Amino acid sequence: MKILLKAAQVVCLDAQDTILEPGYLLIEDGRIQSITSSPPDDFAGTAVDLGNKLLMPGLVNTHTHTPMVLFRGLAEGHSLFNFEGWYNTIRVVEEVMTPEMIPAAVLVSCAEMIRTGTTTFADQYFWMEQIVPAVQQSGMRAALGYGVVELGEEEARQRELDAATQFLQSVAHDPLIEGWVGPHAFFVDNSEAAMAIELDLAIEFDTGFHIHLSTSGEEDRYCREKYDRTAIQQLHKMNMLQRPIMAAHCLTLPPEDYPLLADVPFTAVINPSSAMRNAAGVADACGMLAAGINLALGTDNVTNNNSYDMFKEMQIVGKLMALHHRTPNALPTRTILHMATLGGAQALGLADGIGSLEVGKQADLIALDLDEIGWTPCNGQDVYTALVYAISGMHVRDVMVAGEWLLRDGRFQTINYQQARQDLENSYRNLSVLRSA
Ligand SMILES: [Zn+2]
Repeated sequence: MKILLKAAQVVCLDAQDTILEPGYLLIEDGRIQSITSSPPDDFAGTAVDLGNKLLMPGLVNTHTHTPMVLFRGLAEGHSLFNFEGWYNTIRVVEEVMTPEMIPAAVLVSCAEMIRTGTTTFADQYFWMEQIVPAVQQSGMRAALGYGVVELGEEEARQRELDAATQFLQSVAHDPLIEGWVGPHAFFVDNSEAAMAIELDLAIEFDTGFHIHLSTSGEEDRYCREKYDRTAIQQLHKMNMLQRPIMAAHCLTLPPEDYPLLADVPFTAVINPSSAMRNAAGVADACGMLAAGINLALGTDNVTNNNSYDMFKEMQIVGKLMALHHRTPNALPTRTILHMATLGGAQALGLADGIGSLEVGKQADLIALDLDEIGWTPCNGQDVYTALVYAISGMHVRDVMVAGEWLLRDGRFQTINYQQARQDLENSYRNLSVLRSA
Protein backbone atom coordinates (compact mmCIF):
# COMPACT_ATOMS: atom_id res chain seq x y z
CA MET A 1 0.00 0.00 0.00
CA LYS A 2 1.28 3.43 -0.96
CA ILE A 3 0.63 6.62 1.02
CA LEU A 4 1.84 10.08 0.06
CA LEU A 5 2.03 12.50 3.00
CA LYS A 6 2.30 16.24 2.45
CA ALA A 7 3.22 18.61 5.28
CA ALA A 8 4.07 22.31 5.45
CA GLN A 9 7.43 21.44 7.01
CA VAL A 10 9.42 18.20 7.17
CA VAL A 11 12.25 18.07 9.73
CA CYS A 12 14.23 14.89 9.00
CA LEU A 13 16.79 15.03 11.88
CA ASP A 14 19.21 13.20 9.58
CA ALA A 15 22.97 13.77 9.36
CA GLN A 16 22.44 16.51 6.75
CA ASP A 17 19.83 18.30 8.90
CA THR A 18 17.38 18.20 5.98
CA ILE A 19 14.38 20.49 6.35
CA LEU A 20 11.83 20.79 3.52
CA GLU A 21 9.06 23.42 3.22
CA PRO A 22 6.78 21.92 2.09
CA GLY A 23 7.78 18.28 2.01
CA TYR A 24 6.37 15.04 0.63
CA LEU A 25 6.94 11.58 2.05
CA LEU A 26 6.12 8.57 -0.04
CA ILE A 27 5.50 5.50 2.12
CA GLU A 28 5.16 1.97 0.80
CA ASP A 29 4.62 -1.11 2.95
CA GLY A 30 5.48 0.87 6.06
CA ARG A 31 8.79 2.22 4.78
CA ILE A 32 9.83 5.63 3.46
CA GLN A 33 10.36 5.43 -0.31
CA SER A 34 11.14 9.08 -1.01
CA ILE A 35 11.35 12.49 0.68
CA THR A 36 10.93 15.36 -1.77
CA SER A 37 9.99 19.02 -1.95
CA SER A 38 7.49 18.44 -4.77
CA PRO A 39 5.06 15.54 -5.32
CA PRO A 40 6.32 12.54 -7.32
CA ASP A 41 4.95 12.69 -10.93
CA ASP A 42 3.44 9.25 -11.32
CA PHE A 43 1.94 8.74 -7.85
CA ALA A 44 -1.01 6.36 -7.58
CA GLY A 45 -2.27 5.63 -4.08
CA THR A 46 -3.65 7.44 -1.02
CA ALA A 47 -2.59 11.10 -0.77
CA VAL A 48 -2.88 12.70 2.67
CA ASP A 49 -2.42 16.45 3.01
CA LEU A 50 -1.58 17.06 6.67
CA GLY A 51 -1.90 20.82 6.16
CA ASN A 52 0.00 23.29 8.31
CA LYS A 53 1.94 20.65 10.26
CA LEU A 54 5.55 19.86 11.04
CA LEU A 55 6.47 16.27 10.23
CA MET A 56 9.39 14.70 12.11
CA PRO A 57 10.60 11.29 13.32
CA GLY A 58 8.72 9.79 16.25
CA LEU A 59 10.42 10.09 19.64
CA VAL A 60 12.16 7.20 21.42
CA ASN A 61 11.61 6.96 25.19
CA THR A 62 14.40 4.66 26.40
CA HIS A 63 13.36 4.09 30.00
CA THR A 64 9.85 3.34 31.27
CA HIS A 65 7.96 0.98 33.57
CA THR A 66 4.50 1.16 32.01
CA PRO A 67 2.41 -0.68 34.66
CA MET A 68 3.56 1.85 37.27
CA VAL A 69 1.14 4.49 35.95
CA LEU A 70 -1.21 2.66 38.34
CA PHE A 71 0.81 4.11 41.24
CA ARG A 72 0.83 7.69 39.97
CA GLY A 73 0.50 9.98 42.96
CA LEU A 74 1.40 7.36 45.59
CA ALA A 75 5.06 8.33 45.99
CA GLU A 76 4.73 12.10 46.38
CA GLY A 77 7.31 13.42 48.81
CA HIS A 78 9.38 10.24 48.68
CA SER A 79 12.47 9.31 46.70
CA LEU A 80 12.21 6.02 44.84
CA PHE A 81 16.00 6.02 44.58
CA ASN A 82 16.42 5.01 48.22
CA PHE A 83 15.21 1.89 49.98
CA GLU A 84 12.86 3.64 52.40
CA GLY A 85 11.02 5.52 49.66
CA TRP A 86 10.78 2.56 47.31
CA TYR A 87 9.78 0.05 49.97
CA ASN A 88 7.13 2.16 51.67
CA THR A 89 5.47 3.49 48.52
CA ILE A 90 6.03 0.99 45.69
CA ARG A 91 6.81 -2.39 47.20
CA VAL A 92 3.69 -2.34 49.34
CA VAL A 93 1.43 -1.87 46.32
CA GLU A 94 3.39 -4.15 44.00
CA GLU A 95 2.78 -6.89 46.54
CA VAL A 96 -0.98 -6.60 46.21
CA MET A 97 -1.35 -5.65 42.55
CA THR A 98 -2.82 -8.41 40.37
CA PRO A 99 -2.16 -9.34 36.73
CA GLU A 100 -5.67 -8.20 35.75
CA MET A 101 -4.60 -4.63 36.58
CA ILE A 102 -1.75 -4.61 34.07
CA PRO A 103 -3.39 -4.29 30.60
CA ALA A 104 -5.28 -1.08 31.35
CA ALA A 105 -2.19 0.49 32.91
CA VAL A 106 -0.08 -0.38 29.86
CA LEU A 107 -2.75 0.92 27.48
CA VAL A 108 -3.04 4.21 29.37
CA SER A 109 0.77 4.51 29.31
CA CYS A 110 0.90 3.80 25.58
CA ALA A 111 -1.92 6.28 24.94
CA GLU A 112 -0.05 9.01 26.85
CA MET A 113 3.15 8.28 24.93
CA ILE A 114 1.42 8.21 21.55
CA ARG A 115 -0.50 11.41 22.32
CA THR A 116 2.75 13.23 23.07
CA GLY A 117 4.77 11.97 20.11
CA THR A 118 6.59 8.85 21.28
CA THR A 119 6.56 5.98 18.77
CA THR A 120 9.11 3.65 20.42
CA PHE A 121 9.76 2.92 24.09
CA ALA A 122 12.00 0.69 26.19
CA ASP A 123 10.17 -0.83 29.15
CA GLN A 124 11.40 -2.84 32.11
CA TYR A 125 9.02 -4.73 34.37
CA PHE A 126 7.62 -8.14 35.24
CA TRP A 127 4.09 -9.35 34.20
CA MET A 128 5.25 -9.61 30.56
CA GLU A 129 2.39 -12.01 29.69
CA GLN A 130 0.03 -9.11 30.36
CA ILE A 131 2.25 -6.33 28.98
CA VAL A 132 2.98 -7.82 25.56
CA PRO A 133 -0.64 -8.11 24.28
CA ALA A 134 -1.42 -4.54 25.41
CA VAL A 135 1.65 -3.16 23.63
CA GLN A 136 0.75 -5.16 20.53
CA GLN A 137 -2.74 -3.64 20.60
CA SER A 138 -1.29 -0.13 20.82
CA GLY A 139 0.72 -0.58 17.62
CA MET A 140 3.77 1.03 19.22
CA ARG A 141 7.31 -0.19 18.66
CA ALA A 142 8.91 -1.36 21.90
CA ALA A 143 11.92 -2.97 23.52
CA LEU A 144 10.53 -4.90 26.48
CA GLY A 145 12.93 -6.06 29.16
CA TYR A 146 11.89 -8.75 31.60
CA GLY A 147 12.84 -7.23 34.97
CA VAL A 148 14.98 -9.68 36.95
CA VAL A 149 15.44 -9.24 40.71
CA GLU A 150 16.87 -12.29 42.49
CA LEU A 151 18.83 -10.88 45.44
CA GLY A 152 21.27 -13.79 45.28
CA GLU A 153 18.59 -16.38 46.11
CA GLU A 154 18.93 -19.54 44.08
CA GLU A 155 15.21 -20.33 43.92
CA ALA A 156 14.29 -16.79 42.86
CA ARG A 157 17.09 -16.81 40.28
CA GLN A 158 15.80 -19.96 38.62
CA ARG A 159 12.21 -18.73 38.58
CA GLU A 160 13.11 -15.29 37.24
CA LEU A 161 15.49 -16.49 34.57
CA ASP A 162 13.02 -19.15 33.41
CA ALA A 163 10.39 -16.43 33.07
CA ALA A 164 12.84 -14.20 31.18
CA THR A 165 13.68 -17.05 28.79
CA GLN A 166 10.03 -17.82 28.17
CA PHE A 167 9.33 -14.16 27.49
CA LEU A 168 12.26 -13.83 25.05
CA GLN A 169 11.03 -16.87 23.13
CA SER A 170 7.48 -15.48 22.99
CA VAL A 171 8.47 -12.24 21.20
CA ALA A 172 11.31 -13.61 19.07
CA HIS A 173 9.32 -13.14 15.84
CA ASP A 174 7.25 -10.06 16.68
CA PRO A 175 7.74 -7.36 14.01
CA LEU A 176 7.49 -4.44 16.47
CA ILE A 177 8.64 -5.84 19.81
CA GLU A 178 12.26 -6.52 20.73
CA GLY A 179 12.88 -8.74 23.74
CA TRP A 180 15.55 -7.54 26.17
CA VAL A 181 16.96 -8.87 29.42
CA GLY A 182 16.11 -6.45 32.23
CA PRO A 183 18.27 -7.07 35.32
CA HIS A 184 16.87 -4.39 37.63
CA ALA A 185 20.37 -3.41 38.81
CA PHE A 186 23.65 -5.34 38.47
CA PHE A 187 25.38 -6.19 41.79
CA VAL A 188 22.63 -4.37 43.79
CA ASP A 189 19.81 -6.90 43.33
CA ASN A 190 21.29 -9.23 40.67
CA SER A 191 24.16 -11.40 41.90
CA GLU A 192 27.17 -12.33 39.78
CA ALA A 193 25.68 -15.85 39.47
CA ALA A 194 22.55 -14.41 37.89
CA MET A 195 24.56 -12.03 35.69
CA ALA A 196 26.49 -14.92 34.15
CA ILE A 197 23.22 -16.59 33.12
CA GLU A 198 21.84 -13.26 31.90
CA LEU A 199 24.88 -12.87 29.65
CA ASP A 200 24.24 -16.31 28.13
CA LEU A 201 20.60 -15.33 27.57
CA ALA A 202 21.57 -12.07 25.86
CA ILE A 203 23.94 -13.95 23.55
CA GLU A 204 21.41 -16.67 22.80
CA PHE A 205 18.67 -14.19 21.87
CA ASP A 206 21.06 -11.64 20.32
CA THR A 207 19.90 -8.87 22.64
CA GLY A 208 21.13 -6.64 25.45
CA PHE A 209 20.52 -5.45 29.01
CA HIS A 210 18.15 -2.73 30.16
CA ILE A 211 19.33 -1.86 33.66
CA HIS A 212 19.41 0.82 36.34
CA LEU A 213 23.01 1.93 36.88
CA SER A 214 24.75 4.42 39.12
CA THR A 215 21.69 5.76 40.88
CA SER A 216 23.52 6.07 44.18
CA GLY A 217 26.98 4.56 43.61
CA GLU A 218 26.02 1.37 45.46
CA GLU A 219 27.41 -1.00 42.79
CA ASP A 220 30.69 0.93 42.67
CA ARG A 221 31.11 0.68 46.45
CA TYR A 222 30.38 -3.05 46.30
CA CYS A 223 32.80 -3.72 43.42
CA ARG A 224 35.58 -1.57 44.88
CA GLU A 225 35.35 -3.48 48.13
CA LYS A 226 35.05 -6.92 46.58
CA TYR A 227 37.16 -6.58 43.41
CA ASP A 228 39.14 -3.38 43.95
CA ARG A 229 37.72 -1.86 40.77
CA THR A 230 34.64 0.09 39.62
CA ALA A 231 31.41 -1.62 38.62
CA ILE A 232 32.00 -0.82 34.95
CA GLN A 233 35.49 -2.30 35.10
CA GLN A 234 34.06 -5.40 36.74
CA LEU A 235 31.34 -5.66 34.06
CA HIS A 236 34.12 -5.42 31.49
CA LYS A 237 35.99 -8.28 33.22
CA MET A 238 32.80 -10.35 33.14
CA ASN A 239 32.39 -9.69 29.37
CA MET A 240 29.04 -8.03 30.06
CA LEU A 241 30.01 -4.90 28.09
CA GLN A 242 30.15 -6.84 24.82
CA ARG A 243 26.34 -6.82 24.77
CA PRO A 244 24.27 -3.64 24.26
CA ILE A 245 23.49 -1.95 27.57
CA MET A 246 20.78 0.65 28.15
CA ALA A 247 21.77 2.09 31.52
CA ALA A 248 19.15 4.28 33.15
CA HIS A 249 20.29 7.24 35.28
CA CYS A 250 24.13 7.11 35.32
CA LEU A 251 24.21 9.74 38.07
CA THR A 252 27.46 8.59 39.67
CA LEU A 253 29.45 7.01 36.83
CA PRO A 254 33.17 7.52 37.48
CA PRO A 255 34.65 9.65 34.64
CA GLU A 256 37.64 7.27 34.56
CA ASP A 257 35.27 4.71 33.00
CA TYR A 258 34.05 7.00 30.19
CA PRO A 259 36.66 5.93 27.57
CA LEU A 260 35.77 2.27 28.13
CA LEU A 261 32.07 2.97 27.70
CA ALA A 262 32.59 4.99 24.52
CA ASP A 263 34.11 1.90 22.87
CA VAL A 264 31.25 -0.53 23.57
CA PRO A 265 27.52 -0.60 22.70
CA PHE A 266 26.62 1.27 25.89
CA THR A 267 23.99 4.01 26.22
CA ALA A 268 23.57 6.32 29.16
CA VAL A 269 19.83 6.96 29.44
CA ILE A 270 19.32 10.34 31.06
CA ASN A 271 16.05 10.67 33.00
CA PRO A 272 16.20 14.29 34.13
CA SER A 273 12.67 14.61 35.58
CA SER A 274 12.99 11.39 37.54
CA ALA A 275 16.41 12.34 38.92
CA MET A 276 15.21 15.82 39.87
CA ARG A 277 11.90 14.72 41.44
CA ASN A 278 13.74 12.04 43.41
CA ALA A 279 16.26 14.68 44.51
CA ALA A 280 18.88 12.17 43.38
CA GLY A 281 21.47 14.11 41.42
CA VAL A 282 22.58 15.40 38.04
CA ALA A 283 23.92 13.08 35.34
CA ASP A 284 27.09 14.34 33.70
CA ALA A 285 25.46 14.35 30.25
CA CYS A 286 27.88 16.91 28.79
CA GLY A 287 30.95 15.03 30.05
CA MET A 288 29.71 11.67 28.79
CA LEU A 289 28.82 13.20 25.44
CA ALA A 290 32.27 14.79 25.10
CA ALA A 291 33.83 11.39 25.83
CA GLY A 292 31.85 9.85 22.97
CA ILE A 293 29.28 7.87 24.97
CA ASN A 294 25.89 7.45 23.30
CA LEU A 295 23.19 9.37 25.15
CA ALA A 296 19.44 8.79 25.11
CA LEU A 297 16.50 10.19 27.02
CA GLY A 298 13.80 8.59 29.16
CA THR A 299 10.88 9.53 31.36
CA ASP A 300 11.30 6.62 33.81
CA ASN A 301 8.14 5.55 35.62
CA VAL A 302 5.41 8.17 35.93
CA THR A 303 4.78 7.43 39.59
CA ASN A 304 6.99 10.38 40.29
CA ASN A 305 7.79 12.01 36.94
CA ASN A 306 4.64 12.32 36.50
CA SER A 307 4.49 12.58 32.71
CA TYR A 308 5.41 10.61 29.59
CA ASP A 309 5.85 13.79 27.53
CA MET A 310 9.30 13.53 25.92
CA PHE A 311 9.08 17.15 24.71
CA LYS A 312 9.00 18.17 28.39
CA GLU A 313 11.91 15.82 29.07
CA MET A 314 13.97 17.43 26.28
CA GLN A 315 13.24 20.86 27.70
CA ILE A 316 14.16 19.80 31.23
CA VAL A 317 17.48 18.20 30.31
CA GLY A 318 18.46 21.33 28.37
CA LYS A 319 17.60 23.66 31.23
CA LEU A 320 19.18 21.37 33.83
CA MET A 321 22.49 21.20 31.95
CA ALA A 322 22.51 24.98 31.38
CA LEU A 323 21.98 25.61 35.09
CA HIS A 324 24.41 22.90 36.18
CA HIS A 325 27.23 24.28 34.01
CA ARG A 326 26.14 27.93 34.33
CA THR A 327 26.29 27.95 30.52
CA PRO A 328 23.28 28.66 28.27
CA ASN A 329 22.78 25.83 25.76
CA ALA A 330 25.48 23.72 27.45
CA LEU A 331 23.64 20.88 25.75
CA PRO A 332 22.73 22.18 22.26
CA THR A 333 19.12 21.76 21.11
CA ARG A 334 20.12 19.62 18.12
CA THR A 335 21.96 17.27 20.50
CA ILE A 336 18.91 17.03 22.75
CA LEU A 337 16.72 16.15 19.75
CA HIS A 338 19.30 13.51 18.81
CA MET A 339 19.07 11.99 22.31
CA ALA A 340 15.28 11.72 21.94
CA THR A 341 15.40 10.19 18.44
CA LEU A 342 18.49 8.63 16.83
CA GLY A 343 20.39 8.29 20.13
CA GLY A 344 17.50 6.21 21.46
CA ALA A 345 17.33 4.24 18.23
CA GLN A 346 21.05 3.49 18.53
CA ALA A 347 20.56 2.36 22.13
CA LEU A 348 18.02 -0.19 20.89
CA GLY A 349 20.19 -1.30 17.98
CA LEU A 350 17.57 0.12 15.61
CA ALA A 351 19.44 3.13 14.18
CA ASP A 352 19.25 1.68 10.66
CA GLY A 353 15.47 1.52 10.83
CA ILE A 354 14.16 4.41 12.94
CA GLY A 355 15.25 7.68 14.63
CA SER A 356 15.30 9.93 11.57
CA LEU A 357 13.28 10.44 8.41
CA GLU A 358 15.38 8.85 5.67
CA VAL A 359 14.69 6.82 2.56
CA GLY A 360 14.54 3.12 3.40
CA LYS A 361 13.71 3.68 7.08
CA GLN A 362 10.46 2.75 8.80
CA ALA A 363 7.62 5.27 8.58
CA ASP A 364 7.67 6.03 12.33
CA LEU A 365 6.71 9.69 12.39
CA ILE A 366 4.72 12.41 14.12
CA ALA A 367 3.00 15.59 12.91
CA LEU A 368 2.80 18.72 15.07
CA ASP A 369 0.28 21.54 14.66
CA LEU A 370 2.01 24.68 13.37
CA ASP A 371 -1.17 26.73 13.98
CA GLU A 372 -0.75 26.15 17.74
CA ILE A 373 1.03 28.60 20.05
CA GLY A 374 4.80 28.77 20.52
CA TRP A 375 6.25 28.72 17.01
CA THR A 376 6.21 32.42 16.18
CA PRO A 377 8.24 34.36 15.04
CA CYS A 378 9.62 31.50 12.97
CA ASN A 379 12.34 33.65 11.44
CA GLY A 380 13.59 34.55 14.91
CA GLN A 381 13.39 31.21 16.70
CA ASP A 382 14.96 28.28 14.86
CA VAL A 383 12.91 25.12 14.61
CA TYR A 384 15.14 23.00 16.90
CA THR A 385 14.86 25.60 19.65
CA ALA A 386 11.08 25.72 19.17
CA LEU A 387 10.83 21.91 19.41
CA VAL A 388 12.88 21.72 22.62
CA TYR A 389 11.82 24.87 24.48
CA ALA A 390 8.66 26.45 23.06
CA ILE A 391 6.12 23.69 22.52
CA SER A 392 4.92 20.52 24.27
CA GLY A 393 3.84 17.03 23.30
CA MET A 394 0.25 18.27 23.16
CA HIS A 395 1.14 19.94 19.84
CA VAL A 396 1.28 16.43 18.32
CA ARG A 397 -1.79 15.68 16.19
CA ASP A 398 -0.82 12.61 14.15
CA VAL A 399 1.35 9.58 14.91
CA MET A 400 2.36 6.74 12.59
CA VAL A 401 4.39 3.59 13.29
CA ALA A 402 5.54 1.36 10.40
CA GLY A 403 3.05 3.09 8.10
CA GLU A 404 0.04 2.60 10.42
CA TRP A 405 -1.77 5.49 12.05
CA LEU A 406 -1.87 5.33 15.88
CA LEU A 407 -3.20 8.89 16.26
CA ARG A 408 -5.07 10.81 13.56
CA ASP A 409 -5.98 14.45 14.08
CA GLY A 410 -5.69 13.97 17.85
CA ARG A 411 -7.82 10.81 17.96
CA PHE A 412 -6.48 7.42 19.03
CA GLN A 413 -6.75 4.80 16.28
CA THR A 414 -5.69 1.67 18.19
CA ILE A 415 -6.58 2.34 21.84
CA ASN A 416 -9.98 3.00 23.42
CA TYR A 417 -8.55 5.53 25.85
CA GLN A 418 -11.77 6.23 27.76
CA GLN A 419 -12.24 2.51 28.41
CA ALA A 420 -8.58 2.01 29.42
CA ARG A 421 -8.77 5.02 31.71
CA GLN A 422 -11.97 3.76 33.37
CA ASP A 423 -10.40 0.31 33.82
CA LEU A 424 -7.34 1.93 35.39
CA GLU A 425 -9.51 3.90 37.83
CA ASN A 426 -11.26 0.64 38.82
CA SER A 427 -7.88 -1.07 39.30
CA TYR A 428 -6.72 1.80 41.48
CA ARG A 429 -9.81 1.45 43.70
CA ASN A 430 -9.20 -2.31 44.00
CA LEU A 431 -5.55 -1.65 44.78
CA SER A 432 -6.54 0.68 47.60
CA VAL A 433 -8.90 -1.94 49.04
CA LEU A 434 -6.25 -4.70 48.83
CA ARG A 435 -3.62 -2.45 50.33
CA SER A 436 -5.69 -1.60 53.39
CA ALA A 437 -6.91 -5.21 53.85
ZN1 LIG B 1 13.55 3.06 36.23
